[in-house]
Amino acid sequence: MFRKTDPETVAPYLKDASNFSGGRASEVLVPETRDELVAFLKESDQPVTLAGAGTGLTASRIPLEGVILSLERFHTLGAVKAGTCRVGPAVTLKDLQAHLQNSGWFYPPNPTESLASIGGTLATNASGSRSYKFGTTRQFVLEADIVLSDGRTALLARGQTIDRPLQLDDGSTVEFPRVKFKSPECKNAAGYFVQPGMDWLDLFIGSDGTLCVFTECTLRLMKTPANFLSGILFMKQEELCWRLLEKIKISNAQNIDPCSLEYFDSHSLQRLKKKFANIPDSARAALFFEQDVASQDDYDPCLENWVAFLETEAVLLEDSWFAQGPKDLEKFHDFRHEIPLMINEENSRLGRVKMGTDMAVGDAYFMDMMKFYRDELTASGLDYVVFGHIGDNHLHINLLPDAEQTALAHNVYGTLVDRILQWGGTISAEHGVGKLKKEYYRKMVGDSALTELKAIKKSLDPQGRLGVGNLF
Ligand SMILES: Cc1cc2nc3c(=O)[nH]c(=O)nc-3n(C[C@H](O)[C@H](O)[C@H](O)COP(=O)(O)OP(=O)(O)OC[C@H]3O[C@@H](n4cnc5c(N)ncnc54)[C@H](O)[C@@H]3O)c2cc1C
Repeated sequence: MFRKTDPETVAPYLKDASNFSGGRASEVLVPETRDELVAFLKESDQPVTLAGAGTGLTASRIPLEGVILSLERFHTLGAVKAGTCRVGPAVTLKDLQAHLQNSGWFYPPNPTESLASIGGTLATNASGSRSYKFGTTRQFVLEADIVLSDGRTALLARGQTIDRPLQLDDGSTVEFPRVKFKSPECKNAAGYFVQPGMDWLDLFIGSDGTLCVFTECTLRLMKTPANFLSGILFMKQEELCWRLLEKIKISNAQNIDPCSLEYFDSHSLQRLKKKFANIPDSARAALFFEQDVASQDDYDPCLENWVAFLETEAVLLEDSWFAQGPKDLEKFHDFRHEIPLMINEENSRLGRVKMGTDMAVGDAYFMDMMKFYRDELTASGLDYVVFGHIGDNHLHINLLPDAEQTALAHNVYGTLVDRILQWGGTISAEHGVGKLKKEYYRKMVGDSALTELKAIKKSLDPQGRLGVGNLF
């Protein structure tokens, strides 16, 4: 096992994209094999925080004590077999996409940040623009090799449900505690996923680095579409975009079946205009859409259908952008990725901890949510941007307070959370809870459910060694 103890080599592991400071760890341990990892966990009783690629937004990989375990040497990339691929946790989404490039298969979860590791995306149940149609990471994991905090190992496969004890490789078992709590039905990544009769695997996916170490997994792939039809549509008012979105979602028009629907409010466009000068001056909102097209013959009819559909809508059609080929598709993805990058860079420059929401509600509350956000944010007088996965009723509001507005921003955040929870929504639909959203998580589930969720943690990590300070 490789050990990094020099403060300069440890420092990069005390960061992620949340800009949270205050991480502490005595050393970074880099096992080369699963046996080394298992031996360490069996012999030691130190708290352990698992490091992925550090692109997380909730400080969940930043340790508060103990040691950091980095799986960076676990970089296996297996051959594609019958639409599946076995990969190590250190493989980044970018590596995986490159590996699959000419295989005829693709991996749909696309959390816009391609440097994220597979281990990190499993731990956070990452999702992204294409989750609107294809679903989240959880839907694409067929099995996973895990190690518990005491060094016991298991291979989790589909069909092993919590109705039966979890079988560990050494013959021991773990019972799923009796809990009444159930995860909300909307897109959700807050804390442990709990549904009656679910697979054990689904509990571990999205557990924020607190239940196990993922050492390898088998991913389900999809046939690569022949093409993606894509556009960035501009509108003169934000509300026009919300109304268009509702129409797209209920549209019965043939060939209107997007896999991504991503929103940019007027504040986002103002910032993006610094880099993309051809954003129309009159635009106050934009919608990025993508549609997977199974066969190239379907591409033109599909495009014609979209244009015919949009002609009757309040879209600045002449000034909107439609991809003409793979280069444009890449540009549109960069456009989408640029806004969180700009905000993260601005936060780092100003020493501001990220104050970004990740909340979602069910379809019934979509329009109420949008109006409520607009009214509250306008009344607050704060600077902010709103962007993200509008197809899933899942927007990221980034509050951008001056130093003296920090308390006000926290109050506004709290008001937004309270209303989303009244509507049965979630405080995190994709980034997880980590260390930054615990207070809101507690509000979301309530004290008695929190006790049940802690019992789940205790059954699998009795000494509370993994991911100290995450979730609870
Ligand atoms: C610009 C930007 C845009 C983003 N957009 C999205 C988005 O659209 N959708 C989305 O879902 N996320 C998004 N993210 C967040 C981030 O990319 C995801 O949370 C990602 O899954 C984190 O992966 P990582 O490898 O960087 O993990 P890290 O940040 O290193 O760790 C995240 C968690 O995973 C745990 N972990 C890491 N490896 C393992 C392992 N092998 N076993 C068990 N636990 C492990 C860590 O302990 C920690 O709890 C974005 C981030 C940035 C910077």
